[in-house]
Amino acid sequence: MYTVSCKNCGKKYESRANRSGVCPDCKKIMRSRNNTRYAVKTYDCVRFYVPKGAREEYKQFAYSHGMSLNEFINEAIDLYAEKLESEDHKNEQE
Ligand SMILES: [Zn+2]
Repeated sequence: MYTVSCKNCGKKYESRANRSGVCPDCKKIMRSRNNTRYAVKTYDCVRFYVPKGAREEYKQFAYSHGMSLNEFINEAIDLYAEKLESEDHKNEQE
């Protein structure tokens, strides 16, 4: 173990390898900042309301099917849109 000082905040911390040069606290902040920047650049954020308690219910349901809540909702939107479109085409043919 080495005692090194963080390149970002100057705090001393213990490091086994000292590759990144920043303390664990700064590393956490930087990672979260980078994730936020990436998300803002890459995605639109949609906020909507569900009945109280439903969020946790949907989340558990999604997890039990190997998905995040976000993946579950995106998949559900695609499937429902496909369903409505195929119904539109059926109605056009009649
Ligand atoms: Zn630091």
